[in-house]
Amino acid sequence: MKGDVPVKGKPEPGPGARGPGGRDHDRAPAGPPAPIDDAVLRNYLADALSPEDSARVEKALRDSAELRARLEDVRNGRTDGQLHTLGAIWHRARLTCPSRQQLGSFLLDALDPELASYLQFHLEVIQCPFCQANLADLRAQSQAAAAKVSKTRQHRILQSSQHLLGSE
Ligand SMILES: [Zn+2]
Repeated sequence: MKGDVPVKGKPEPGPGARGPGGRDHDRAPAGPPAPIDDAVLRNYLADALSPEDSARVEKALRDSAELRARLEDVRNGRTDGQLHTLGAIWHRARLTCPSRQQLGSFLLDALDPELASYLQFHLEVIQCPFCQANLADLRAQSQAAAAKVSKTRQHRILQSSQHLLGSE
């Protein structure tokens, strides 16, 4: 039926909390953040959170080993196969996935420590299958490239030593 559009709960742009003087204050959250319980974690795994909440959960996961353990419990305790549908993973992954270039730098140990630790978290705790596959692919490529370079170098060294030996 047409005309039966659900009302979207759009947050109002700022509840008029602007003080008279320019305050040096971080953007205040609209309210106290809800505690991250198992239901939130389940929603997180099922990709049922808003991007903001998703980001908040990830941040909390990074800060808390206890929470990471709970995420594992929730993940392993799932009773249906719905949580890891490809669509859900893909959608969730795209929100927070590093670029392929960043993954490449990660392989080369050429990232900011902070970013590197995020990638590590993303790969090992979130276990993003797309980035894991991407990384495996990049690793294979870089190993192939390294093998090629070292072969070329060997060849060159061989040639130059032949020259030094004056082998005619
Ligand atoms: Zn990813």
